[in-house]
Amino acid sequence: MAGLYIHIPFCRKACHYCNFHFSTQLKNIQPLVDAICREIDNEAPKFNHKLSTLYFGGGSPSILSHSQLSQIFTAVSTHFDISKIQEITLEANPEDMVRESIEQWKSLGVNRLSVGIQSLNDDELQWMNRSHTAKQAIQSLETAREFGFTNFSIDLIYGSEKKTLSQWQQELEWVNSIGVNHLSCYALTIEEDTPFGKWAKSNKIKTPPDEHAEAQFLYLSKWATQNHWEHYEISNLSKVGHRAIHNSNYWAGQPYLGIGPSAHSFSGHSRRWNISNNALYIHGIQNSTPTFTEEILSKKDIVNEFLLTQLRLTKGVNIQEINLLYPGFEELKRPVIEKLIRNFQIVDHNGHWSIPSAVRFLTDTITVELMVDEI
Ligand code: SF4
Repeated sequence: MAGLYIHIPFCRKACHYCNFHFSTQLKNIQPLVDAICREIDNEAPKFNHKLSTLYFGGGSPSILSHSQLSQIFTAVSTHFDISKIQEITLEANPEDMVRESIEQWKSLGVNRLSVGIQSLNDDELQWMNRSHTAKQAIQSLETAREFGFTNFSIDLIYGSEKKTLSQWQQELEWVNSIGVNHLSCYALTIEEDTPFGKWAKSNKIKTPPDEHAEAQFLYLSKWATQNHWEHYEISNLSKVGHRAIHNSNYWAGQPYLGIGPSAHSFSGHSRRWNISNNALYIHGIQNSTPTFTEEILSKKDIVNEFLLTQLRLTKGVNIQEINLLYPGFEELKRPVIEKLIRNFQIVDHNGHWSIPSAVRFLTDTITVELMVDEI
């Protein structure tokens, strides 16, 4: 069983913080959808036939018309066995969640909506150049519920200069009142090639000190414990039994196929990523020329990627597994691990090394200390 990811690289507006691959040239949607279907035809025979999850990400998959989404579903079900599929997720923006579309998503078999809400503060939404208001966001969930959707994830952003700790606390209060079962929370990062990146350089926007986002992250951890949410991955929280299956399979090292511009695939020993350019992607698919770059992973890459993903999880790294991947790892890293344990940055518990919630904000720095140079 495997996961299939389909990247839909179009958005109505460019959010000022976003560095994902997308275009606002909506007239090119149809040729891109045709190319996606052709890539599915080409790649599916090389991949595991049985799908456990299907994930439409982007970009904004909710921008597709019913016929475009149906076209992709037909290509998927022609080549894959979806009879045992556990999860079909569609990322949706509140402004696209109108009754007709929601009804169509339901009829196609989508059983989980990942809604890009980001904030409940209209000033902050406008500042980020989002296309919706807080009221629309709230309404979008209610409408989806009317059509039988019960499985929701929502995205929220914390740590911006526009969000005070008390506003963040209120947003989390609201989360408790709306009955969603999954939450993805990301600290706002200012990326160089974005409008925010340019404005930060010219001091047009402020970059709050790290402590601002850190305080909001710590509050999130505390809130999760008090309100029966599992903070199972650094950016992901769920109610019991509602972890994201598609992403959890990524973190468990399962293979997946990525279709569409900029999509990544993983086979267990290699990674490949499609070109992040819609026109070149369409041209490549139409002319049967490669649209991707492939890298065979070295032993060192496999070990370091394992550490990177596992230390983001609450349960942490399975010590037996890392010793199997890299015989002698524990011996080699013993002095570093002992130092991290003394500094309360790693806990050795139940055969796992994990990062305690009080310092989870430092996950990247801690992980670098455990990574290996050569094997
Ligand atoms: S809608 Fe999502 S993918 Fe599109 S620009 Fe905004 S954050 Fe990026």
